[in-house]
Amino acid sequence: MTESELVKKALSQPWEVKFRQSVQLLQMYETFALRINPDGYYLAFSGGKDSICMKRVADIAGVKYKAYYHNTTVDPPEVCRFIRDIHPDVTWTHQPKHLCKMVEERGLPNRRHRWCCAVYKEGGGDGEGKLIGVRAAESHRRASLWHTFKMDGRGGFFVCPILYWTDKEVWSFIKTEELKYPSVYDEGRTRVGCIGCPLSQTQREELERYPRYAALWRRGAERFYKRTTEYVKSDGDFYATVNFPTFEHYWAWWLAEGKRWQRGSKEACMIANMLAGWRGELAPPDGQMPPPHGGWAKPYEGGRPPRRKSPPLGGTGGGR
Ligand code: SF4
Repeated sequence: MTESELVKKALSQPWEVKFRQSVQLLQMYETFALRINPDGYYLAFSGGKDSICMKRVADIAGVKYKAYYHNTTVDPPEVCRFIRDIHPDVTWTHQPKHLCKMVEERGLPNRRHRWCCAVYKEGGGDGEGKLIGVRAAESHRRASLWHTFKMDGRGGFFVCPILYWTDKEVWSFIKTEELKYPSVYDEGRTRVGCIGCPLSQTQREELERYPRYAALWRRGAERFYKRTTEYVKSDGDFYATVNFPTFEHYWAWWLAEGKRWQRGSKEACMIANMLAGWRGELAPPDGQMPPPHGGWAKPYEGGRPPRRKSPPLGGTGGGR
């Protein structure tokens, strides 16, 4: 049986079997988690529906854990309020800078350069028994990457107790257990996460719904663009942003990136476009969609900026 057939089989098991397995899984590895940390499991809590279910199952299983929320600074305010009011036992962790402030230094994140996930979301619990609310039904990638138990390579391990739950089962569990959830789901959203995340298929809708966050992203991006087009890297090389004739081109490219993926373009196409940058006349400065792949015009002829040494902020990432 292939890996994907096994995943399909696991997903189609009866609910009672899946639920029993989730509980048993948590109980089985608790001893190991306690050996590493007397607080028990490190439960990664995002305030989303999956985290809510995972936390409830851990309570039902009676295992010891401590829940942590990593404040990304761009999560919907409704979600932050929900965590603070309904789950006061969750410990908040903070980064010294707002994510959009970091954009000034590192550039806009994208699918190939997801620096913010590593900084704002995925830290914490290294070398411990970490509970993750990831589900195979969310994407093929997650189904192939994750198992119910996985070593973390740092002496700890991951346990994914709801890995094989379907969306329907998640919502039915929330209903049966009468669990509270963030109000954003009632607005029709299927996931909660960072507002304006470039990986989200609803990036534009999110930025329209939360204009204050859109302004923060834009300000960070504008400052990054200005800095990297006026200065060169310490090794004398140019930043990739010089391929965008204006900031509006850079911004429109970022907003459109997710859309290109939704249309099923190949990764190679997206990467080629990104590296080529926005080459000239076809680029609309008013935030319209970019031309489809293959529609690039003549190379940008605006000339490169004069070389200057030492970027003011040290010039990390976002380069070529
Ligand atoms: S979810 Fe998106 S915006 Fe949030 S940290 Fe990860 S890549 Fe960045």
